[in-house]
Amino acid sequence: MNNNKGTILIAEDNLSNMKLLKDILGFQGYKIIEAYDGKTALELTRQNKDVIDLILMDLQLPEMDGIEVIKLIKSDDSTKKLPVVVISAHAMEIDMKRALKAGCNNYITKPINVESFIEKINAFFRHNTKL
Ligand code: MN
Repeated sequence: MNNNKGTILIAEDNLSNMKLLKDILGFQGYKIIEAYDGKTALELTRQNKDVIDLILMDLQLPEMDGIEVIKLIKSDDSTKKLPVVVISAHAMEIDMKRALKAGCNNYITKPINVESFIEKINAFFRHNTKL
């Protein structure tokens, strides 16, 4: 696998979900920054804003929920261009609307389909779009 295809920050408090995402994306050659709560996700985003290519955000997180983290990322000039894709079990339309209103760029529902997930992420990096 390629090395250093890009850097992805994953905000996910569920250990097995984090391991799955980390394993899948790590195997694909992405560098992963892990955050297990919302506050840490925000801090690590700010600290690593120059190297992060994509943020994968769970919505239900301890310390600060994902919606709040997205709002703060998207209201800060130095981080607002970072693409945020919500990965959440909350497939309900209202949660999607809240996430989109907060500024998230896209939405993937859990449980993820591994093949289509990899394809989405690779396509994102291939096209080098900021969504
Ligand atoms: Mn969660």
